[in-house]
Amino acid sequence: MDLKNTVINLMPAPLVRLFASPYIAGKGIGAGVAKAEELYTKLGISSTVDLLAEEVFSREDVEATVQIYLRMVEALKDRPYASISLKPTSLGINESEAYCQENLRRIVSAAALHGMHITLDMEDRHFTDVTLRMFKAIREDFDNFGIVLQSRLFRTTEDIQNLHAKPCKVRICIGIYREPAEVALQEKPDMKEKVYQHVQLLLEKGHYPEIATHDEPLIRRCMKYLDDKGVSKDAYEFQMLLGVPRAELQQEIVKRGQVIRLYVPFAEDWKYAVHYLKRRLAANPAMVGMVLKNMLGS
Ligand SMILES: Cc1cc2nc3c(=O)[nH]c(=O)nc-3n(C[C@H](O)[C@H](O)[C@H](O)COP(=O)(O)OP(=O)(O)OC[C@H]3O[C@@H](n4cnc5c(N)ncnc54)[C@H](O)[C@@H]3O)c2cc1C
Repeated sequence: MDLKNTVINLMPAPLVRLFASPYIAGKGIGAGVAKAEELYTKLGISSTVDLLAEEVFSREDVEATVQIYLRMVEALKDRPYASISLKPTSLGINESEAYCQENLRRIVSAAALHGMHITLDMEDRHFTDVTLRMFKAIREDFDNFGIVLQSRLFRTTEDIQNLHAKPCKVRICIGIYREPAEVALQEKPDMKEKVYQHVQLLLEKGHYPEIATHDEPLIRRCMKYLDDKGVSKDAYEFQMLLGVPRAELQQEIVKRGQVIRLYVPFAEDWKYAVHYLKRRLAANPAMVGMVLKNMLGS
């Protein structure tokens, strides 16, 4: 572990909360709903709302998590600008594939009644096969279900080729997990080149790419490709994380009449959020300086 990660891991939870607060909507479903509403009404930005509850193990905790997602569906059902994201490790994959798939199905079917979209997040490489299997099985029955693919993995081109005969919404990103050289690209420029290629392949295969990156040159390159090809503005969207400072670019996308959607996480309990927040801080330690600057009002 490098020095930066060691320092961040030693930080007490309240300090992590303070420095990483721009990344999180707040505590409770109400905070997630309020942030989604504010983003849309003030800025024309859509949201995908998620509960921070990684590492859920007991059946009791998994069921409590399912219930929260079902309440989120109810709370967001009249807001077409909001979708929901969820993770297999929060919904029972540690117990069994069948159990997790059943839990996912309960949430996706509840959302389908309201035409609400659900995205299945992608975790590290150990979960790729099982996540794709569960996605394909449920996508067979529900149109409102999409998935995430990580361009850094060598397998992703083939995964796109074999995704599904039905059109799918696919969030394409470099992938947040460090993966070994046997299975994944190691250099960011190579990963971003792959994102560009995967966007094209997804469109060729009839899917809807959700281009999830904060890299402005990559976004502009994708925009040019989409414009040159005359791809309809409702055939793709851009996505970013709440808290990453890209306000101008986001407004430019809104003005172009394209969808820009932010990932809006909230926590039921701060202890669940700290792990996520530490990861975000490790990705961008400059956030510490930004928060201090905001606090000092300069
Ligand atoms: C909506 C959304 C959903 C995602 N879902 C998943 C998922 O399911 N599975 C998965 O593995 N990964 C997921 N990711 C993470 C993604 O894979 C990347 O790790 C992340 O987006 C950073 O990659 P980048 O393309 O922005 O490039 P980078 O090179 O990492 O970032 C480009 C620039 O953006 C800024 N930036 C990037 N990240 C941050 C940050 N955290 N704080 C402040 N500034 C930052 C920096 O200025 C940086 O130089 C998701 C990302 C988004 C936007």
